[in-house]
Amino acid sequence: MFLDKSSQYVLNETQKYSIEEQVSYSEVKNYLCTMTNDITFQDLNLNTPLYNALNDLGFVKPTPIQAQAFNMVASGKDVVGIAQTGTGKTFAYMMPILRHLKYSRQDNPRVLVLVPTRELVVQVVDEIEKIAAYINVRVLGVYGGTNINTQKQAVAQGQDIIVATPGRLFDLAVSRVLQLKSIQKLVIDEVDVMLDLGFRHQLLNIFDVLPERRQNIMFSATMTEDVDALITDFFIKPERVTIAVSGTPLHNIKQSRYQIPNFYTKINVLEHLLKDTEDFNKVLVFVAFKKLADKLFETLEERLPGQTCVIHSNKTQNYRLRSIEQFRTGEHRILIATDVMARGLDIEHISHVINFDTPNYPENYMHRIGRTGRAEHKGQAITFSTDKELEALNNIEAYMAMEIDLLDFPEGVSVSDQLIEEERPQIKERNNPTKRKSDDVPGAAFHEKKAKNQKKNLGGSYKYKIAAKYKKPKTRGDKNANRRKKR
Ligand code: AMP
Repeated sequence: MFLDKSSQYVLNETQKYSIEEQVSYSEVKNYLCTMTNDITFQDLNLNTPLYNALNDLGFVKPTPIQAQAFNMVASGKDVVGIAQTGTGKTFAYMMPILRHLKYSRQDNPRVLVLVPTRELVVQVVDEIEKIAAYINVRVLGVYGGTNINTQKQAVAQGQDIIVATPGRLFDLAVSRVLQLKSIQKLVIDEVDVMLDLGFRHQLLNIFDVLPERRQNIMFSATMTEDVDALITDFFIKPERVTIAVSGTPLHNIKQSRYQIPNFYTKINVLEHLLKDTEDFNKVLVFVAFKKLADKLFETLEERLPGQTCVIHSNKTQNYRLRSIEQFRTGEHRILIATDVMARGLDIEHISHVINFDTPNYPENYMHRIGRTGRAEHKGQAITFSTDKELEALNNIEAYMAMEIDLLDFPEGVSVSDQLIEEERPQIKERNNPTKRKSDDVPGAAFHEKKAKNQKKNLGGSYKYKIAAKYKKPKTRGDKNANRRKKR
């Protein structure tokens, strides 16, 4: 079924009701707005310095994320944006922030932008400098791997906006050179990558030292459980905006799905589809987890040798680059990828996106299928769902306010009864007559502790032990106390 563009704007009452039940109606509206973006820069409440900068840059129209996020960010509410690099998201949050940032001579920064890598720090600072060309604002980028003292000096000169990687920012805050007490706006960009790189702990540390009253703005290319948890814990009733991959005309994408009982049957169906090498000539297969991506890769290598490559965040940078290149040039026609890794992938002429699993978040579905059907080429998106995944599928359909065509299970494909670990029912052992109750009680460690580790902590402090050993005070505090005693 090809989407009829015009029909997308007409939601009947039943559709509205069912959508509102599952996802907020405004989310759907946001998504539909991306189809036609008739908003101009004049419609946004910009000021002359911003207009002048946009003029110099030659930008004629806001991108969909800029058009939609402007008022949300300007309102001061918390905002969650699902959009990728390349959609114009840096200006989307920076234009409203700069529009309302008053000139100040105070030293402590008022805006903090956190990004996962030093390259992004440089890129974001560069973008801010472009859009703030006619505004008197001090911007500094700080990141690890370079001399912290030079950065301390720059911070000490006074800044308005700091763009930073989490680790270096925390070091600067701990050293007290950087005071975060005046931060009014916190932007976390590419938060999915940040969490994937293991920055969660650092982020929480930073939240601890930021003022409680602040606006949180977050951008992520994909929605993951970790991102969701972060939003629930730290955001207050956020406004949400979702942008499909920039410029993707969804009416170009034929969407269909198969109902398939388990992992190995999914592989059989996939193999069956991929045998049509003419039609399925550039296929991006999405898998939710790294482990399953590897498992799928191994199986496809056995069944269709030398045609597949894989990327996920446990692969080295070189491996990933090689895989992408092999896929881009057509050396391999199948690429297996996880959601986070596929961000930033801009590969032309992808004939099919196959969702090997049904994404848990509708936003991810939008991103995945947006990889095909680009530049007015027709593309196909095929989704595999097990019974367990039907709820996620319902959410996606509600989000798009349309149903995805269900295809008949392909003839001649065998249904496997082999289950992977995740699919096996978790059976609890009951009434085992040979099992004693004490079997479940945790016992002693399996080896004796070494003598030196057997010492017990008897209380008291190191200071007193040292004092007893040397028979004289070891610290200045003790000296003073003793002096007082002598008097
Ligand atoms: P970003 O998604 O923020 O990385 O932006 C991607 C690129 O789009 C950057 O080079 C921006 O300078 C550019 N850009 C941002 N806004 C616009 C716009 N309204 N029109 C054209 N290009 C833009």
